[in-house]
This record gives sequence, structure tokens and C-alpha cells, in this order.
Amino acid sequence: MTSKLPNTGTTIFTIMSKMAAKYGAINLSQGFPDFDCDPALIALVTDAMEAGHNQYAPMPGDWDLRSMISNKIYALYEQNYDPETEITITAGATQAIFTAVAAVIHPGEEVIVFAPAYDCYEPTIELFGAKSIPIQLEPPLYSPDWVEVEAVITPKTRMIIINSPHNPSGMVFGQDDLKQLERIVLKHDLLVVSDEVYEHIIFDGRVHQSVARYPNLAARSFITASFGKTFHNTGWKLGYCVAPGPWMNEFRKVHQYNVFSVNHPIQRALAIYLQDPEHYLGLAKFFEQKRDFFLSFLKGSRFQFEPSQGTYFQLLDYSAITNEADTVFTERLTKENGVATIPTSVFNKDHRDFKQIRVCFAKKEETLAKAAKLLANL
Ligand code: PMP
Ligand code: GLN
Repeated sequence: MTSKLPNTGTTIFTIMSKMAAKYGAINLSQGFPDFDCDPALIALVTDAMEAGHNQYAPMPGDWDLRSMISNKIYALYEQNYDPETEITITAGATQAIFTAVAAVIHPGEEVIVFAPAYDCYEPTIELFGAKSIPIQLEPPLYSPDWVEVEAVITPKTRMIIINSPHNPSGMVFGQDDLKQLERIVLKHDLLVVSDEVYEHIIFDGRVHQSVARYPNLAARSFITASFGKTFHNTGWKLGYCVAPGPWMNEFRKVHQYNVFSVNHPIQRALAIYLQDPEHYLGLAKFFEQKRDFFLSFLKGSRFQFEPSQGTYFQLLDYSAITNEADTVFTERLTKENGVATIPTSVFNKDHRDFKQIRVCFAKKEETLAKAAKLLANL
């Protein structure tokens, strides 16, 4: 058998969550909350089931939910997306990203990604016979160098995948980054997948620079989003993709034969829940407090860090503690110190090891305090 993905193994999120469970460690590895989502949202799902929304949703998704998403994007970013032709509800952002790539990428093409890169990008690109071209971002700030980006463009380059706020670094693109991206994308006639799953989790007064704010970029972009990240229910696997009509038309050609449609009662519930913008606008403060609470224990420890600018992840530099490889260090931390984290080298070009681990701070204060004290003792 010839594998289509010879270099792909098991995702680090599965490996570390399994290891956490095996050794009874506090799991700050895979990114999910250890608190429940709003009971009001669960009640809305129950209501939708009891009201009989238990058969297939329309292929592109529930109409009311698509309308709410359209209104939300307009209110936040002043870009119009037609719910009829430009918005599709997906089984999480992962499926949205996969489907966008599947729909438009041809064998032999190149797709630029920023490393450390979320781990589904490269296998998805490769599965469709294309090549991922990583641009390595570097600590401490992980800011992109747009000259370097332009330098790797060839006649085969077809797409750039961006992700701001960025997992795992917590870096956030500013206006200048988007302007540079816009210039490059127009000049070289590229498409964009903008993975915006952490759009509402952004700190210290920063403003999320959605590609939707930039009409020239929006015209060439698939934006992917995740309700699981926004509403604390990653297990529900609901998200969406928006793109201009002709691109969304191609997207739906794949979507209809990949999943056809996704969980109907949850879509009905989300359509109602989204009517209150506080449900997502309050997230930034909520997670900023968690970040600050967690970091307050690590000040004065041997870990060094730049406070995360967005996402619910924090990078910690452990080079003052040990010179071990990050994969070795995270395994030891899990087994011997009772805290599971993620080694970041697995997301880097050629697995470069910057001696940085990623922790997820989407946890109850008691969990954060317990884990942070264990880490601070090192
Ligand atoms: N992109 C990034 C950057 C992520 O961190 C995640 C994990 N939530 C996803 C995409 C996938 O999101 P979902 O769980 O909705 O598939
Ligand atoms: N997005 C989550 C993270 O970065 C993981 C999702 C998954 O396990 N695939 O930790």
C-alpha cells in the first residue's frame, strides 16, 4: 500500500491528552475548556430537539443561523455575505479548512503557511497533491516578515493560509500585516484561507483584523470559524465558512458530498443564542483574566514568556530550566510533574525546537492555580 500521507502520524493533541489521562496529569495540552458551556445554550439545543428539528438540515446550513452569521460579520467588520450563496455551516473549522483546500487547490500547486502551523493545514494540502511552503515565525513575538513571504512565491503559489489570533504563539496580526497581505495577494493573484477561530479571544484592547474588513482580501478569501472555540463546546464540532459566491459555490460542491449537512438541532440553538452579542463580545475579557491569573503564578519562576496577545494559549520558554528537547520535556512534565502541555516543535518547519511549550488556559481558576504552582516549582 502506498500511503497518500507517508509523513503524517498521530496528531500531538491526541498523544498529549492520552498521556495526561494515563499519568493523571492536569491536562493543559489539547485546547478545550474544563468548564461547561452556558446551560441556556444546552437548553436551546434540547428545545430544538423537542420541537422536532431532528432530520437533515439544509445542505448549506440552517437559514436562520446563516442569517445571524451574516448580520454578525456585517456588524463587526462591515462586509456583506449573502446567507443564500456565501455562508456554509460546517462540522467545525477543521472541516471548513479541509473543504476550502479540497475545493480550489490543484495537484502541483503551492500553499504558503506560517509555522508554527496548526497541524491540519499541511496534511490537507498534501492530500490534494499540493505542497505546503512554511514561513517560519520566530520567538519571542512570532511576527511575520512579509518580504520573506513574497520571496517564496513562485508561479505555482496559489494560496496563503493565515491564522490570527495565532495558535500556538498567541501572536495577533495588526493592520499593517493585513495591508501587506493584501498587496501580495493582489499582486500575485492568490487565494487566502483565513482561519479566524479565535477572532473573539484577543487581549489588551487589540482589535481583530478579519480579512472581512478588507474588501480586496475578502474577495479572495475563505474565512473559517469555530463555534466550539467561541461557546466552550469543542465537542459539538460546529463551525462555518464564508467566501464570495463563486468560491463558495466550489466549496459547496465538495461539502455536499463530504458531509452534506451538519448537526441540525445545534444549528437551530446557535441561531437563537447568537442574537445576544454579549455571548461572544464578552470572551476577550473572560479569557484575558484567565491569562493574567495563570501568569501571575509564573512571574519570578524560571519560565520566560511574552503574554499571549490572543487565543487561549500561552507559550512558555523553559530554556532556563533544561536543554532537553521540547518533546522530551513535555513528556517528563506530564509523567513526573503532573502537568500536560504541548511541545511546539511539532508545528515548526523541520521541527525546529525553540524550547517553548504551549499551555491552554481555558480552564477553571482552581485548575490553573494548581497547574501553575507545579510549573513554578521547576
Ligand atoms: N484552527 C485552529 C487554529 C485551531 O486551533 C482549531 C482548534 N479549534 C481549529 C482550526 C479547528 O477547530 P474545530 O474544533 O472547530 O474544528
Ligand atoms: N485546536 C485544538 C488545539 O490547538 C485541538 C483540536 C484537536 O484536538 N484537533 O489544541
